[in-house]
Amino acid sequence: MAPKKQPNVCRNCHRVVDGEACVMCGSSNLTQDWAGYLVIIDPKNSDIAKKMNVDVPGRVALKVR
Ligand SMILES: [Zn+2]
Repeated sequence: MAPKKQPNVCRNCHRVVDGEACVMCGSSNLTQDWAGYLVIIDPKNSDIAKKMNVDVPGRVALKVR
């Protein structure tokens, strides 16, 4: 099995980004140097989403270097 390419993560808001720029904040300040991600399904009922200031469902990196 070929290793999967690490997706980019926005340094600004930690959102996992599929394209060249962050869909949430429009930043192109992306990095592949991150670890662990969280899938936020229901941000209104998620303590960790509140802690990370996430109010839109999606994937968010836990640690961005
Ligand atoms: Zn962003």
